[in-house]
Amino acid sequence: MNASTLLDGLNDKQLEAVTLPHQSALILAGAGSGKTRVLTTRIAWLIQTGQVSPLGLLAVTFTNKAAKEMLTRLTSMLPINTRGMWVGTFHGLCNRLLRAHHREAQLPATFQIFDTADQLSAIKRLMKAMNVDDEKYPPKQVMGYINSCKEEGLRAHAVEAYDAHSQRMREIFEEYDKQCQREGVVDFAELLLRCYELLSRDSTIRQHYQSRFKYILVDEFQDTNRLQYLWLKLLAGEQQASGRNCIFAVGDDDQSIYAFRGARVGNMRDFERDFAVQSIVKLEQNYRSYSNILDAANAIITHNRNRLGKNLWTAAGKGEPVRVYEAYNDIDEANFIVDEVKSLHAEGHGLGEVALLYRSNAQSRVLEHALFSANLPYRVYGGLRFFERAEIKHALAYMRLIANPHDDTALLRVINFPTRGIGARSLEQLQETARSQGGSLWQAALQAAGKGDAIKAKGIPGFVALVKQMQEEAIGITLPEVAELATGLSGLRTFYQSEKEGEDRIANLDELINAAVAFTNQEIGVQVDENGEVAQSLLTQFLTHASLEAGEHQAEAGREALQLMTVHAAKGLEFKVVFISGLEEGLCPHEQSLYEAAGLEEERRLMYVAVTRARQRLYLSYAQSRLLHGQVRYGIPSRFLDEIPDELIKRLNAKPVARSGYGQDYNAMPKVMSKTSQEQKSAMPWKIGQSVAHAKFGQGVVVSYEGNANDMRVQVNFGREGLKWLALEYAKLEAV
Ligand code: ATP
Ligand code: MG
Repeated sequence: MNASTLLDGLNDKQLEAVTLPHQSALILAGAGSGKTRVLTTRIAWLIQTGQVSPLGLLAVTFTNKAAKEMLTRLTSMLPINTRGMWVGTFHGLCNRLLRAHHREAQLPATFQIFDTADQLSAIKRLMKAMNVDDEKYPPKQVMGYINSCKEEGLRAHAVEAYDAHSQRMREIFEEYDKQCQREGVVDFAELLLRCYELLSRDSTIRQHYQSRFKYILVDEFQDTNRLQYLWLKLLAGEQQASGRNCIFAVGDDDQSIYAFRGARVGNMRDFERDFAVQSIVKLEQNYRSYSNILDAANAIITHNRNRLGKNLWTAAGKGEPVRVYEAYNDIDEANFIVDEVKSLHAEGHGLGEVALLYRSNAQSRVLEHALFSANLPYRVYGGLRFFERAEIKHALAYMRLIANPHDDTALLRVINFPTRGIGARSLEQLQETARSQGGSLWQAALQAAGKGDAIKAKGIPGFVALVKQMQEEAIGITLPEVAELATGLSGLRTFYQSEKEGEDRIANLDELINAAVAFTNQEIGVQVDENGEVAQSLLTQFLTHASLEAGEHQAEAGREALQLMTVHAAKGLEFKVVFISGLEEGLCPHEQSLYEAAGLEEERRLMYVAVTRARQRLYLSYAQSRLLHGQVRYGIPSRFLDEIPDELIKRLNAKPVARSGYGQDYNAMPKVMSKTSQEQKSAMPWKIGQSVAHAKFGQGVVVSYEGNANDMRVQVNFGREGLKWLALEYAKLEAV
């Protein structure tokens, strides 16, 4: 490709951005306007016109997938070898730099990288050694504290401590860093901080890279955090204003969705100031989507106040209307999606062109199940498939032990999880005993435990007593109750409750219970006897089902497959057809975001990201009721749906009817749900949407409800006071 072909097809603004002279620039533009394309083309153009060698530039992308795509695009544009080019994520690039200079960074050549789970267990280990009360200092919180300090570029000694509590936190931080240093390990935040410190401290290395990377290009700039920004600044060199090294940053403030991890849109303003940015190029033509989709996205995002503001238009024509489906329940929703995907496929759309997006990982289970049953190959990105997630595997391990305590793998997985002080040595001894006697680990554990029968006991006796108690309690109860036992009595739920970001995992544990409900009701049509008891073997069948779904049904690499992912993971990507499911208040926007305006604005940006992934066809769906936290919840459609003008929408069904699902209703399950949904509905004195008054919170609107007659809870939106769940019996609501 010669230079002019390379630039062919770019619009004027894009062309201007691609061919800017050597100066820092900000490309601020909405979704699908070609930011990533401009960035990639600029790299190719700079190389082709001889302004820089492939090794003289550095490009930061948001995911490894994006980095790979960028390199592939580059090789299709230019006959160059992209190996050795510095294109990658912040973590990837810092890792590379630290490997090259490990000695100067005071790291062993073989330093290991901790993932979040490793980091957490290291923190726990340390806190134990330091005798820190983990109730007063929940390890997950300590981890969050350490990481956010590091993301601000701060070491323990630089952190301010006001009182005994913050002093102790700081002390743990300091000791943790020492422990990591001794063991030669580096966590994610440390990769960046260590690299930043190395560059600040060592002028030889700094100058080497500063003189090497004349051009620095950053995609998704709106989601950089403080430390990443400082790192970029350092690499760019001291005299940015005089244009030594320049940073070409592309971003979209409307797509900033990582504030919860410390991302700062403020970096854009700092960047303009610190780098004396002369060129701010705005791209306004969207090349991705038809106007119905784009207008829907624009209509949603205009509800946010805190925006830099920009226009986005397309020449593509209206295209198809946005399809909206109101499902009877979550299973109906999944079945609807499966049916649509099948007909799309029959019409010749490739499965790889279709994406199913959801707000939280826990939502994928019902979808995965429906796809699996329909024999549609799919792949889950940026997250593990449901039954492979650590917390689910832990819970399943307890269920496996209930079914068969001699299952060594299951035992090893949870004997010390949640931690009960069983160390490597005790485990070795157990394994030794089991080996010499030719028995199972469980048998060896029974011997080691002696007569211990208190599950509060520490160590092996406590574990043995726990499993025994679970087995006893499991007699004569239903499968969902067994799942509840495995998540509750095991201590897993309490364990994740104490974690700062444990809500997701708890939501997944709840989903496991839902899976058990669904399996019991519809999967194999098991007959429940009069007492509501299910044969023990159902447990085994369920476990088999779980391990099969985990192992074999994710489409193998290379095979064309549907793409499932959270909206967060879909950033920067595009698909011909997009389904966004679970558009209910509480799910999207997520209920935790509703208490603060900033939270709601971030949810809206997330919705904007989701909608703008679609090129040709967009489906939005919500369910009237959904099994959540083991209970049926009656939701109302997401406010984001109301924000889309009617003329862009085609409603696919006027009035949803019961399709295949939990039989005719969720009510087949005894014990877990003792009332049918009809009974629940009639027991609910308030209508959704009704205005009510509460003594403390003032006026509000009923948005949903859950639970049975006696312990029914209503969810009321009290405006400024936020969204609250209230126990109907005590809330004393009055009609307004
Ligand atoms: P996002 O904000 O979602 O990351 P983006 O601004 O990075 O989007 P790109 O992914 O670069 O947008 O481009 C969106 C789509 O538009 C891509 O398929 C790209 O190839 C196409 N595109 C961009 N510019 C042009 C153009 N000038 N002519 C034709 N197609 C274009
Ligand atoms: Mg992009």
